[in-house]
Amino acid sequence: MAKKTILDIDLKSKKVIMRVDFNVPMKDGEISDENRIVAALDSIRYILNQGGKLILLSHLGRVENEDDKKGSSLAPVAKRLAEHLNQTVTFVPFTRGKEVEEAVSNLNEGQVLMLENTRFEDVVGKKESKNNEELGKYWASLADVFVNDAFGTAHRAHASNVGIASHIETSVAGFLLEREIKFIGDTIANPERPLVAVLGGAKVSDKINVIKKLLEVADYVIITGAMAYTFYLAEGYDVGLSKVEKDKVDLALELLDLAKGKIVLGTDVVTAKDFDPESEKNIRLKSEIPNDEMGMDVGPETLKTYFFYIEKAKTVIWNGPLGVFEFPRFAEGTKGFAKKLVELKDSVTTIIGGGDSAAAVIQFGYENDFAHISTGGGASLEYLEGKLLPGIACVDDK
Ligand code: ADP
Ligand code: MG
Repeated sequence: MAKKTILDIDLKSKKVIMRVDFNVPMKDGEISDENRIVAALDSIRYILNQGGKLILLSHLGRVENEDDKKGSSLAPVAKRLAEHLNQTVTFVPFTRGKEVEEAVSNLNEGQVLMLENTRFEDVVGKKESKNNEELGKYWASLADVFVNDAFGTAHRAHASNVGIASHIETSVAGFLLEREIKFIGDTIANPERPLVAVLGGAKVSDKINVIKKLLEVADYVIITGAMAYTFYLAEGYDVGLSKVEKDKVDLALELLDLAKGKIVLGTDVVTAKDFDPESEKNIRLKSEIPNDEMGMDVGPETLKTYFFYIEKAKTVIWNGPLGVFEFPRFAEGTKGFAKKLVELKDSVTTIIGGGDSAAAVIQFGYENDFAHISTGGGASLEYLEGKLLPGIACVDDK
């Protein structure tokens, strides 16, 4: 079911409380990557231009005790946001209380304030993360409308998403959340075919449910990355020192059986003797991996096979790198695959999910070349599994 967004409601003079994802990486009190702030600007500007009175909520890192609060304040984020908006962002260094309420009542149309890190409420009784009833109700009481634009936490029911939504009349999605619903939710529900799913990355055990779901939904499922070696083992190959999960071999066999030919595996691999960026590389057939070598990347024949499938696709869902992309020598498969998808962008809609996969394509400079790069790691995995995420479920239906 389609969800209401900020475009569907009247925001003029409304007090709008919006949950954003400003969980930016910090180093020595400085923001080291402001992508998440930039990503939220569209929703923020829209609400302000419509005459909304905006209250922003976000978490930053994990806060479990008083000590964790040091270095977890959102104050630097408020400052950076003000620079982007070119207007004052009032920062209230509290999550509730008189100062908060006063600042809210002083808000005029088109003005914005930010409260302190929602997880400061976790120090006593994990009120934010355990969706404390009273806390959600309190935040809801500050505003007329709730906007959820934090996809990264949509797989969790916290006070700052589900809690607020259950105590306020109107809850809608911001532009970022809307995009995730459109590209992941709608694609899983009703894909343009052929749909090719590409599942790589580290572990079969992390992705069992995604593989199962995509076997249901996709026309082909390419299994790649370190995960592939457990499947090669299941096929009866010796994979040397490659990363495998021996206790998942039976599961791999079961999935191969379930797939009825939908699963696409590689034929050759790039190996190394050590898990080291400088380690010499060799190209081996998967049937000829020496017992003192490990698979680090896909081989050239395998990459060609993948191209054959994606060239015919209308939609590609890609989760998980093809190799150890953190080492440039072993990033070629992942990079070559990304490049091919960019070349095909007029005919193939590519959706990228997963923290490392997103990091890889951004690192290669393809940030703006895909239909969608999901902003949530854990959340995008759960969404790809076909789960209804609490942070999306709590938004009003159209
Ligand atoms: P995502 O975050 O996109 O869901 P994962 O977390 O599942 O992806 O996997 C990413 C990791 O998988 C990367 O750190 C990468 O180095 C690793 N990886 C990929 N291929 C291999 C391989 N052949 N051997 C060891 N690690 C690999
Ligand atoms: Mg990861």
